[in-house]
Amino acid sequence: TSKDSGKNKYSIFDQEMNRHQLRRMSLEKDLRKALARSEFMVVYQPKWDSLLNVTVGLEALLRWRHPEHGIISPSEFIPIAEETGLIVPITYWMLHDVCSQNRLWHQEEVANVAVSVNMSARMFEGNGLYEVVEEALAESGLEPHFLELEITESIAMNNMEETVAQLSKLRLLGVRVSLDDFGTGFSSLGNLDEIPVNTLKIDQVFIRKSKLHSKKAIISNIIAIASNLNMDVVAEGVETTEQIELLQSLGCRVMQGYYYGRPMPVNELGQWFIENTAVS
Ligand code: C2E
Ligand code: MG
Ligand code: MG
Ligand code: MG
Repeated sequence: TSKDSGKNKYSIFDQEMNRHQLRRMSLEKDLRKALARSEFMVVYQPKWDSLLNVTVGLEALLRWRHPEHGIISPSEFIPIAEETGLIVPITYWMLHDVCSQNRLWHQEEVANVAVSVNMSARMFEGNGLYEVVEEALAESGLEPHFLELEITESIAMNNMEETVAQLSKLRLLGVRVSLDDFGTGFSSLGNLDEIPVNTLKIDQVFIRKSKLHSKKAIISNIIAIASNLNMDVVAEGVETTEQIELLQSLGCRVMQGYYYGRPMPVNELGQWFIENTAVS
């Protein structure tokens, strides 16, 4: 009988696998049409200077409004977009959208900050990125330093020579670069000073409430590394005043997280800026 129940478990497992694969396949099929059907939407999450109490930047995050399934989270569709290569045209679209939106905010005096866009490894295959960035900036009239690219350690380290070459060119344009999810990539620290980066973003795993105190030494060292390499630092995933106080005591002032603001659609940001822009 133990054999039988084992078999049974496998078939339930198979059914689960099957269900998962079917959803994966159907999402892939739909993802191929999503761009043409205008199903993507960009939401923006503030980066907040916790001492001056002002927004110092925004991170653009992708949302997919699926006609049947509703909003699908990036953690589900980004991997599919990466595997299929669809992430490249999607990110190109996003760069154009973000640059013209940010330019509009500047012109309307709604906000005057940089917006960052997340980059997948795929974006550094070939030389298309530079051209599209140049084009998106030229078309929108946005000044380059108001656009930031977020890359992860693994992207930077994977194909380091090529990535550094491309990032250096983009930096010469004036575009900013930040290293996302820092501390989780186990990259060799020895190369960090060779990557042209303006900002280190401390990954939320270190900031999480349950981990915060045990990770104090790590956080404090990331802040020291950033400072020694003349980089700015941003803490991700800030949800509580306890986290804010600890981060401030360690010398980190710019934070991003639900405490200060969730990712918001464009139509909410105008009001949000009115309520959250301190007069200096
Ligand atoms: P990420 O770039 O590290 O973005 C931060 C993620 O943390 C976002 O999730 C954000 O909504 C979430 N977050 C922010 N504050 C808090 C907080 O206080 N608590 C918690 N629990 N979470 C917080 P999101 O939007 O679901 O995106 C997840 C990941 O998907 C991103 O991580 C990024 O790696 C990827 N992603 C999102 N948009 C894009 C995109 O346009 N292109 C690429 N290549 N990747 C993207
Ligand atoms: Mg990011
Ligand atoms: Mg991150
Ligand atoms: Mg992350």
